[in-house]
Amino acid sequence: MVKKIEHIGIAVNSIEDSCKVYETLFQSQFYKEEHVESEGVRTAFIQVGDSKIELLEATNNDSPIAKFLEKGKEGFHHIAFEVDDIDSELKRLQTEGFQLIHVSPKDGADNKRIAFLHPKSTTGMLIELCQEKIG
Ligand code: ZN
Repeated sequence: MVKKIEHIGIAVNSIEDSCKVYETLFQSQFYKEEHVESEGVRTAFIQVGDSKIELLEATNNDSPIAKFLEKGKEGFHHIAFEVDDIDSELKRLQTEGFQLIHVSPKDGADNKRIAFLHPKSTTGMLIELCQEKIG
C-alpha cells in the first residue's frame, strides 16, 4: 500500500549551487548527503513538512542523471512514494502490467530500499517506490 509522497527528486548540475537555493527557499538545512555508487549519483536531502526534496547530481557520464541532463535541463526528475511492503507492491504492479525498471528492490539513498517504475507505464512519470530499511 502506498502511504505518502516520500520525496521529490530534482536533477541538478551542482549540488553545492542548488543546496544554497533550496536552503534559502525553505529556511532549512540539507541534513544528508550521500554517494549512491550503483546509480552514479550524489544525493542531498532537505525536509519540507512531511516530505523531502532530493537533489541528484551525476558522478559519471553513464549515470541516469547525466543522461537526463543531456536531454534537457535541470529540474523535476522523479516522485517517490513510501510503501509499507515494497516486495509485495512490486509483485502487485507487475501483475497489473506495469513496466518495472527494477524488478526487485535495491539499496537507495537515505536508508531505503527502492525501485523505479518505467514512465512508459505511468503516463510519463518516473516513479520511485521506497521503504525504510529495518535495522
Ligand atoms: Zn529518489
